Amino acid sequence: MKLRTISRVVQGRNRYSSTQFYIYRVSAQLHSIPKRHSFGIAFDIDGVILRGRTPIGDSPKALRRLYDDSGCLKIPYLFLTNGGGIPESRRASELSQLLGVNIDPIQVLQGHSPFKNLLKRFENELIVATGKGEPAVVMSEYGFKKAISLEEYASHFNNIDPLSPYKTWTTKQPCNEQKNSSESVQSFDVTSERVKAAFVVSDPVDWSRDIQVLCDILRSGGLPGEKCEHQPPMYFAADDLEYQAVFPCERLGMGAFRIALESIFNRIHHKPLEYTSFGKPNPEVFKNAESILKQLLNEDHKDIINNSHHFETLYMIGDNPSVDVKGARQAGHPWFSILTRTGVFRGKENHTDYPADRVIDTVEEAVEYILQREAI
Ligand SMILES: [Mg+2]
Repeated sequence: MKLRTISRVVQGRNRYSSTQFYIYRVSAQLHSIPKRHSFGIAFDIDGVILRGRTPIGDSPKALRRLYDDSGCLKIPYLFLTNGGGIPESRRASELSQLLGVNIDPIQVLQGHSPFKNLLKRFENELIVATGKGEPAVVMSEYGFKKAISLEEYASHFNNIDPLSPYKTWTTKQPCNEQKNSSESVQSFDVTSERVKAAFVVSDPVDWSRDIQVLCDILRSGGLPGEKCEHQPPMYFAADDLEYQAVFPCERLGMGAFRIALESIFNRIHHKPLEYTSFGKPNPEVFKNAESILKQLLNEDHKDIINNSHHFETLYMIGDNPSVDVKGARQAGHPWFSILTRTGVFRGKENHTDYPADRVIDTVEEAVEYILQREAI
């Protein structure tokens, strides 16, 4: 085990000013939303709006119907996805480009978005984050001051992954410290400090390394090679077994990785893995989405939730019965589930285990159905 001190840039000085700009822009964009809108919409992304980076059918046209002629949002909606790996602000920019409408970061709820709520507990603690994209950047943007990617963490322990010499490919991502031009620098030594929590932010890229290193961290109490009974908390952004990507058949998701890690951990450790999974179908995610949709209605104070407003209907449009429909059903009133046939679900009839309130072929038809139902 080699000792090394890491200097990391953890925060951007410009965050405050960009937040101010963001609040101003949201206020301007949403100014025309009627105060007493009785409904809102949550769209799943993968398998409904996009397949990979390609819009499904004419999903951009469906979204354009939710804006007025001047490009201002007239129907409160957001994206509720179990995907992630990049900050919400960047995802919103990407979606705006791909779909040709002006999407604000507040309208993007990703699987890892609830991790923000753990900031108080782990703000100044050493945490590891893994998954495709930029997991440590995501956590740093939420305010976690000592977030490190599992890839970088593993690089400080010689031979921790005995298969690494055979891995000729690289998963190297742009580093937070390389991209930030600023600011406060914090030093910490990962080889002597215990990891206080592990986060799976998005789908892991190198399963063998991640399972190995996570097992090392979790069964040693946060410091590989040490002995300790206490397992650090383990959080998953989602628990999807499968999801629809570009390949014609479903792909294994974060839930599959969780099963693999849990199965192995429980065979090599005397106590079963303790973990928390966020993302759909967790009802808390739907409660949070409802709060954000209420927030979208509040023209003057974006950060204050308009609790006096009650939606009569909140539509969840998704392609995965066990995630989107199950979640909306568990959340109960005012959620109304619409299942499309553009992704995981392709059945003729309704799903047997998790029947949706409505099954509709595409997202364009789903939006048409909603606007007619709401007499818009
Ligand atoms: Mg989906």
